[in-house]
Amino acid sequence: MSTTLTQDPQTAQVWVAHCKQCNRLVVFPHTVPNDGHGDTHRLAPGLSLIYVCSACNHKSVFSAQEIQLQTMENGMQKAVSDTLWRVVIACEEKDCGRLMEVFTCVERFRRADEVLWSIMRAKPPIYCSRGHALYEPPQVRSMEAMRSV
Ligand SMILES: [Zn+2]
Ligand SMILES: [Zn+2]
Repeated sequence: MSTTLTQDPQTAQVWVAHCKQCNRLVVFPHTVPNDGHGDTHRLAPGLSLIYVCSACNHKSVFSAQEIQLQTMENGMQKAVSDTLWRVVIACEEKDCGRLMEVFTCVERFRRADEVLWSIMRAKPPIYCSRGHALYEPPQVRSMEAMRSV
């Protein structure tokens, strides 16, 4: 006999972190970022996740230890009702081309160009892994709005 798993939002498990400057709650989808092998309850050990807070512009870099798996609570509804965007930007420095993956959470009604604007004014600014600054306008490789739960 098998049990059917239901996606009850009241008991959904989500990954949460807090902006390192204003402490705003960030709710990541439970499938992102996982260990890459389909286990949504484990984060990749060397995880380093860049998040730009749209409330205070601060760029937080979260390690796997700083993102906690929690059960959805009522207080999280506001954070979840915002839209989490995952943006991949390519470094345009000559002979570089490194990709930068950036997350940001904005109100649902924001447009894609406003999301990019929020990322461009991050403090401290976003650099590629070789230390190159972003060009303006940035070379966006992909941009997706993610479901939070
Ligand atoms: Zn913040
Ligand atoms: Zn670069």
